[in-house]
Amino acid sequence: MFKAQVLACMKDHFWNRVPNFDSEFRVRCKDGSWKWVRTRGMVVRRDAQGKPLRMVGTHVDISDRRQREDELRLSSAVFNIADEAMVVTNPKNEIISVNPAFTTITGYSSAEVIGNNPSLLSAKTHSRAFYQAMWAQLVETGSWSGEVLNRKKSGEVYVEWLSIKRVLDDHGQLTHHVAVFSDITVRKAAEGRIRHLAMHDALTDLPNRTLLTERLEQAIIRAKREKSSLGLMYFDLDKFKPINDSLGHEVGDLLLKAVAGRVVDCVRESDTVARIGGDEFVVLLPSLEGEKDALMVAEKIRAALCQPFHVAEQTLDISASIGLAIYPEHGNDEQTLTRNADAAMYHAKRRSRNQVALYQPGM
Ligand code: GH3
Ligand code: MG
Repeated sequence: MFKAQVLACMKDHFWNRVPNFDSEFRVRCKDGSWKWVRTRGMVVRRDAQGKPLRMVGTHVDISDRRQREDELRLSSAVFNIADEAMVVTNPKNEIISVNPAFTTITGYSSAEVIGNNPSLLSAKTHSRAFYQAMWAQLVETGSWSGEVLNRKKSGEVYVEWLSIKRVLDDHGQLTHHVAVFSDITVRKAAEGRIRHLAMHDALTDLPNRTLLTERLEQAIIRAKREKSSLGLMYFDLDKFKPINDSLGHEVGDLLLKAVAGRVVDCVRESDTVARIGGDEFVVLLPSLEGEKDALMVAEKIRAALCQPFHVAEQTLDISASIGLAIYPEHGNDEQTLTRNADAAMYHAKRRSRNQVALYQPGM
């Protein structure tokens, strides 16, 4: 309260407009520090004209209470304006309070959730073990944070980044859980798109060289462990440039897409078809019975690519030269296998194109 207000308050009591004086204000102490006090008083003697002669009263130091009130006001403002949803539960994990951001994110009003367990938001996608681990860590360390899939009132599933903390009293007894979360669905989707773009070819959406290398390394590790074989096939379209030059780049692009689709149809889902350059593709066959299997797939691809393509109202005849290297016979690391599959492909090209060549030393 300002000094003028305090004095006005006192005057009101002096002139009998209010029965007693009661005011809170700051005072400066002898040492220069400030204290909040509550002053209450009452005039106990007046002269014949009613003029106050004597007053009694008390001053109480309320600095601690004022500080707690300031902190509460601040916490309440944070709770109400935060963009993150906040949920407070009691020790039985029943919701006792949610903030406006909670309603914005989930669609549930505070009246709809108070008294409920926060599991009412569950999208039922996480295992029981997931929640058990979450609670075990909460009890052990006092906090937990991570990604959780939940469901909005509308039914829409969203990804949230959730942090939960246990709140204890002075005796170490659990009084509340406080959970804070934000909806990170859009960010996750963008991250997923960026990761996909970094690992795939923009034209055909096939894995690119980066993803192929990753899968080849993994396949070699697995083949080493399981003592099995794998096949690596390099192929390049024959005389693709003349098609591009005569019909245009756009038709060339459509043909590359059609080639990608046709090759994917020739292999199993566990195999990888990658585009690593202009008209150059790679097929990784991560589990093979033997060399014969790989030759069969290569031959199937060669034959499939010889069938006419119908793109942009044109019928196009192409073919491909295919080189094949087998792990472990033709190399037991990624570089050697790659080099040898490439060498076999150039061998097929040099011979007469539209061929499958299995790697042989000296190629
Ligand atoms: P070869 O039989 O020796 O393989 O001859 P080729 O005509 O197929 O020529 P080569 O494989 O050396 O070159 C591939 C051509 O592919 C070169 C370029 O004009 C074309 N090319 C590269 N990238 C793209 C692309 O993204 N889209 C299209 N339409 N063409 C591309
Ligand atoms: Mg070519």
